[in-house]
Amino acid sequence: MYQQRVGARAEYREQESQRVKDSATLARRFGQLKSLTVELTYYDPDRVSKGSELKYQVNLNGAKSVFRFNCPNAECVRGDFDLSKELAKAIAARQTSVSGEKTCRGWRSKTTIQTVRCHNVLRYKLTLKY
Ligand SMILES: [Zn+2]
Repeated sequence: MYQQRVGARAEYREQESQRVKDSATLARRFGQLKSLTVELTYYDPDRVSKGSELKYQVNLNGAKSVFRFNCPNAECVRGDFDLSKELAKAIAARQTSVSGEKTCRGWRSKTTIQTVRCHNVLRYKLTLKY
């Protein structure tokens, strides 16, 4: 059973940021990768209202191979989007462009733990050069 604790959200984020910190940089793990650009668009669970959108070139020497993005829902508990597997798979297959969609598996807020999922959506596009 889940034990209600103050700061379940903060605790999770802290664990996750430690996991990111402990991972190798992209440059180190994927020596063959020369550049990576990400395009991200966030949507509400209904996929109708479009949230923030961003596009940037990843600094391969700074970014870590645990490649995750925070969920834009400020109340989300134990969710977020982890693209580490998608990225590793794309690089292994030498793909130059990968896009897809991830759904946040967290809880909508700390009062809906075990009842209502967050289900925010992240659409992503990765552009890779080797
Ligand atoms: Zn979420």
